[in-house]
Amino acid sequence: MTTQDGTTTGTHRLAVDVRGLRKRYGEVTAVDGIDLAVRHGEVFGILGPNGAGKSTTVEILQGNRARDGGEVRVLGSDPATAGRAWRSRVGNVWQDESAPVELTVRETVRQFARYYPRPRDPQDVIALVGLQEKAASRVKSLSGGQRRRLDVALGVIGDPELLLLDEPTTGFDPDARRQFWGLIRRLADEGTTIVLTTHYLEEAEALAHRLAVIAGGRVVAEGEPAALRRRHGTEATVEWTDPDGTPRGERTATPTRTVAELTARFDGEIPGLRVKRPSLEDVYLRLTGTEGGAP
Ligand code: ATP
Repeated sequence: MTTQDGTTTGTHRLAVDVRGLRKRYGEVTAVDGIDLAVRHGEVFGILGPNGAGKSTTVEILQGNRARDGGEVRVLGSDPATAGRAWRSRVGNVWQDESAPVELTVRETVRQFARYYPRPRDPQDVIALVGLQEKAASRVKSLSGGQRRRLDVALGVIGDPELLLLDEPTTGFDPDARRQFWGLIRRLADEGTTIVLTTHYLEEAEALAHRLAVIAGGRVVAEGEPAALRRRHGTEATVEWTDPDGTPRGERTATPTRTVAELTARFDGEIPGLRVKRPSLEDVYLRLTGTEGGAP
């Protein structure tokens, strides 16, 4: 089906289809040939360290930044040229949304609802993000976590098919982060396609059906979190302590054999024996080249 402004509707095979995306800022190549394929109804994580190119990519998907190269389709349209009808189908939550601080939460959500052709019920949206008790409070009195939840409310008030979130939980305490994850899951259960960037691995693992790990403006790995761990984390580390007290470690694809050899060498118990399978975090640090650099 085609709408008045020439865009295809939700029948397009992919919600987000990006090929060979490139963006430079002067001498800096921020995005260096990224491909992304996000299916309708999935939560897709873009995971990467600071400066990897996540925000730039999302801004291009939002239609808020021009690209230098590559093909981009978001809900079937090119964000660089898509019109108002397309914008009303895409919800945006960015790093520092500026809602009018003198209004109350309810007034703000109602005001934003007027910008959309078929908004959700403001009362329902306030409940969805867990701000019922703050509905009559002024925006300026909200805590950081509540403020982010209001940002999400404003992102979904237009009942978008796709929600783009750029580092939604940066600066949250662990409790606020978990509450926020619950909110994202509720939206996903309601059928919203969600693309979110994060540099928190645990967030990507907790929320994303699939994720792309990016570093230096390129996708260095892509897939389901568990599959990434299997594919890139085949080597285990065997650790033990030598008779002179020196801690030792060996990375190996055959840890059982290493342990058998150590058993023979020590003739019994191996002091300090530990076999560590790589966590997704180990895989991530290896893929992004930040191994050993994190605390
Ligand atoms: P973060 O997690 O720190 O937000 P990011 O993965 O979102 O990082 P980007 O913000 O997209 O990364 O930045 C990618 C690269 O482009 C970085 O080297 C950054 O310094 C540079 N960059 C981003 N925006 C601009 C800009 N407006 N002008 C010049 N350089 C920029």
